[in-house]
Amino acid sequence: MTAETELVRARLRMVETQIMSRGVRDERVLDAMRSVRRHEFVPAEQIAHAYEDRPLPIGHGQTISQPYIVAWMTELLQLRPADTLLEIGAGCGYQTAVAARLCARVIALERVPELARQARLNLQRAGVDNAEVIEADGALGHAAGAPYRRILVAAAAPAVPRALLEQLAPQGRLVIPVGSREGQEMTVVTRDAAGNLEREYLGSVSFVPLVS
Ligand code: SAH
Repeated sequence: MTAETELVRARLRMVETQIMSRGVRDERVLDAMRSVRRHEFVPAEQIAHAYEDRPLPIGHGQTISQPYIVAWMTELLQLRPADTLLEIGAGCGYQTAVAARLCARVIALERVPELARQARLNLQRAGVDNAEVIEADGALGHAAGAPYRRILVAAAAPAVPRALLEQLAPQGRLVIPVGSREGQEMTVVTRDAAGNLEREYLGSVSFVPLVS
């Protein structure tokens, strides 16, 4: 079997045994997870581990999330083809690439300059042409493109940053892990057509902190 066939099989197995088995059902999300070449987003020394059921180091004390977590958060976002997604914490750009397959445009913010650069290279190599990575403090959001129908935060905050709530459009969804360094709760904030916010808590998770 060629190395390429091995990688494809590892990816399909990842979707079945780590993602579908834990209850992610959205076919568009599963297809995106089957298509995006995760091994091309991790550092060279991690390629052999790219399809394992865990987060991996990507340098600068940061991690690429476990595949299941990426799939679950993407499902929670309920992306539609016309949506623009604001993503905070681009890291290596993997989650960006998955989301970019499901919506019109992704604006991804990353505070570590080297990671932002690497994410851009990875996305370019993957042929993703509807995502841009901006070096910025994501806790402030990105006012220039606001309001957003969808916002995703891939780092844990002690509370939902006010700027992100302000930049969430009516009928918008914001997915964010909220809590302390010790433990966080996956949280979905929705804004209804009248502007009222509602929160849903979906279980404990563990993310690197949002540094602001
Ligand atoms: N989803 C990413 C991994 C996210 S790890 C991937 O697929 O690789 C969380 C990322 O959030 C890290 O890269 C970290 O540098 C970034 N981050 C932390 N605080 C931030 C902030 N205030 N603004 C923007 N990015 C931030």
